[in-house]
Amino acid sequence: MLVERMRPFTSTIFAEMSALALRTGAINLGQGFPDTDGPPSLLADAAANITGGINQYPPGIGVPELREAVAAHQQRFYGQEVDPAHVLVTTGATEAIASAVLALCEPGDEVVTFEPYYDSYAATIALAGAVHKPVPLRPPDFGFDPDELRAAFSARTRVVLVNTPHNPTGAVLDRAQLTLIGELAAEFDAVVVTDEVYEHMVFDGRPHVPMATLPGMAERTLTISSAGKTFSVTGWKVGWISGPPELVAAVKAAKQFLTYVSGAPFQPAIANALALPDAFYTDLADGLQRKRDLLAGGLTAAGLTVYPSAGTYFIVTDTAPLGITDGAELCWKLPELVGVAAVPVSVFCADPELGRTLVRFAFCKKDEVLTAAVERLADLKAAL
Ligand code: PMP
Ligand code: GLN
Repeated sequence: MLVERMRPFTSTIFAEMSALALRTGAINLGQGFPDTDGPPSLLADAAANITGGINQYPPGIGVPELREAVAAHQQRFYGQEVDPAHVLVTTGATEAIASAVLALCEPGDEVVTFEPYYDSYAATIALAGAVHKPVPLRPPDFGFDPDELRAAFSARTRVVLVNTPHNPTGAVLDRAQLTLIGELAAEFDAVVVTDEVYEHMVFDGRPHVPMATLPGMAERTLTISSAGKTFSVTGWKVGWISGPPELVAAVKAAKQFLTYVSGAPFQPAIANALALPDAFYTDLADGLQRKRDLLAGGLTAAGLTVYPSAGTYFIVTDTAPLGITDGAELCWKLPELVGVAAVPVSVFCADPELGRTLVRFAFCKKDEVLTAAVERLADLKAAL
């Protein structure tokens, strides 16, 4: 029944691994979602909005308070001038990505991404009838080869879909890497769609550099983020996209017929949360950095090769030192073996060889949960 182009996408690894974790009672370090809620003021505001009657369709472009708050946030953190009129509120970052690709790509147009990539990218490109051109990111630092990046561009390239900080690898693109991507986008007249949902989860004092802040890039960049990550409310599905007026107008044309609007009571609450003091944002990154170190230590002790995670709430490991030859096979067995769930990196790759033995663990969990997971993983070698 299913159209051919969607046949490779009948299920998501996150749903499968979370279901497996639930069935087996395993600690779920697979699907990336926090096990604590976001800031109390945000939760209270949303509850008050629901009981206070903010429950009908909001404006198609999003409520003014949230669009203004997103613009103020870009100015505050990155010195970037954004006109609230050119911010579009979406149903999570997922819809922003899908709307952008659907709005900009004719069937047969090409979309460059890095590989591994967040799973919705490939499915969305397929939905649009576009052609996916993935460029490998390889361990240990998951940087890209400039020649391979250039080779992925062609006269058909319409969109470069960038993700920094990067899921699943935890890599954070630096200014030089972003500049190169931007130069190629300009040379081939492509639009950069940049998924920055983990913008506030960057560690070790590194900066997050938004693509749109690079010289000349604002005019060809659509920037995406989401409340789900920054405020630990992944189930609310409120995101946003901003950029030049003609690009945002194109995205809005697609978005309004996907969901039309969503999240009326959440939108004003998120607007207030975006204005939380700096301490909220630094505590978020500091807390996650500590959790990263806790989990990384345990994974190393369990005998895995742990690659550095500079951002996001994910760590990628190589299971080959334990004699594993297929990370996906291991992930299906891991809950039974030691009571921990994880996700294989190969499912984020067009070329499964690229991530064959790599496994991703999420560390956005309570310390006691991470500690228990580490204790269980200590038995992995013996359990294999
Ligand atoms: N992009 C990346 C890189 C992600 O990790 C996620 C979270 N699953 C999303 C987009 C989707 O975000 P949202 O839940 O806001 O749709
Ligand atoms: N972004 C989260 C992850 O990468 C969850 C995604 C999802 O469940 N679709 O794990």
